[in-house]
Amino acid sequence: MIFPDAMLGMLGGGQLGRMFTLAAHSMGYRVTVLDPDPLSPAGAIADVHLKAAYQDVEALQQLADTCAAVTTEFENVPAESLRWLASHCAVRPAGDAVAIAQDRIREKAFVRSCGIEVAPYAVIEKAADLDTADAALFPGILKRARFGYDGKGQARVANVAEAKKAFAEMGAESSVLEQRIALKCEISAVVARGADGSGRGFPVAENRHRNGILDVSIVPARVTPELAQRAEQWALKIAEKLDYCGVLAVEFFVTTDGQLLVNEMAPRPHNSGHYTLDACATSQFEQQVRTLCGLPLGDTRLLAPVVMVNLLGEAWQHGQPQWERVFLAPEGKLHLYGKHEARAGRKMGHFTMLGASADAALQKALIVRSALYPDWKD
Ligand code: ATP
Ligand code: MG
Repeated sequence: MIFPDAMLGMLGGGQLGRMFTLAAHSMGYRVTVLDPDPLSPAGAIADVHLKAAYQDVEALQQLADTCAAVTTEFENVPAESLRWLASHCAVRPAGDAVAIAQDRIREKAFVRSCGIEVAPYAVIEKAADLDTADAALFPGILKRARFGYDGKGQARVANVAEAKKAFAEMGAESSVLEQRIALKCEISAVVARGADGSGRGFPVAENRHRNGILDVSIVPARVTPELAQRAEQWALKIAEKLDYCGVLAVEFFVTTDGQLLVNEMAPRPHNSGHYTLDACATSQFEQQVRTLCGLPLGDTRLLAPVVMVNLLGEAWQHGQPQWERVFLAPEGKLHLYGKHEARAGRKMGHFTMLGASADAALQKALIVRSALYPDWKD
């Protein structure tokens, strides 16, 4: 086990890295963040902020020399950097697991190899692949295999002609064409797996998106216990088959006829797990510290039903949002990420609202949400 006050390394300095750093600090660890952005949210509070590229040899050498263990907060970190670091210190999760989650083509094939279902899809390497794709995949969504997030690198396409146009516009890069699924709802399972192979899930969240970006998470998800359990079991199975060490998030579709399909996974804590900070015995970030340091997994029990609402740059459209609307609710908790510029679609923070039930928490949270987004009609 790695004990305080060891130095932990974090590749990536966004809000996930920041919340990891806060958890590590409260447990007595020190943190070095590698992120080229001098204003990065995690870099601002880290003990050491290396402002260099993720492949920078000197910066990687410094991480290797000074850190007991290194992890990451975003899946687009070069897997090569993780593999190089692994020959010098503990790296969790391993570069090979991150590499699978970085690439939708490898990811979907891997999930299927676990005997778990995904939405029907076809691999699109070149425009001609669209001509031979199964017609049942339309209407579909064309998704770039790599470097997509928050609905970026995706296009809704009704037919082959639209798909060809979108494929060219997105740079003719390796992609998947996915059938558009009729959704009853979306859920996610955040699980952790320790170096000793022990696994544990957090309560499953029900997620609502707006413009392809997570908007609201409702916990516990309002699905049958059987379905929530299956989602958790599948996420744990994926973690096991990957021989994964760390926190892993799996997003699911629940179809209108009740089928569960894996959408995608993230080799790190997840936006839909932010509720754990305020509503679980252990947060997903403390769990990340625990898995990284070889400590036993923390208790993941839910202490109260909760709803999390994302705060995007749109909330700053008319200046500072009306924060008193969050603070006036005793069950409301505000989390801001220290980002200096509010742009549309940018995740600036989130708030949570506890309640006697998921529905009661949702009702209160949506009233506050509408005050913070006066221009949103839904
Ligand atoms: P993030 O990384 O933020 O989760 P992303 O860019 O990787 O997003 P996806 O998770 O693939 O994107 O898609 C974003 C959202 O778009 C989904 O959560 C879902 O609401 C919708 N969506 C994606 N694929 C499908 C599909 N095949 N059928 C129906 N809706 C879909
Ligand atoms: Mg997603």
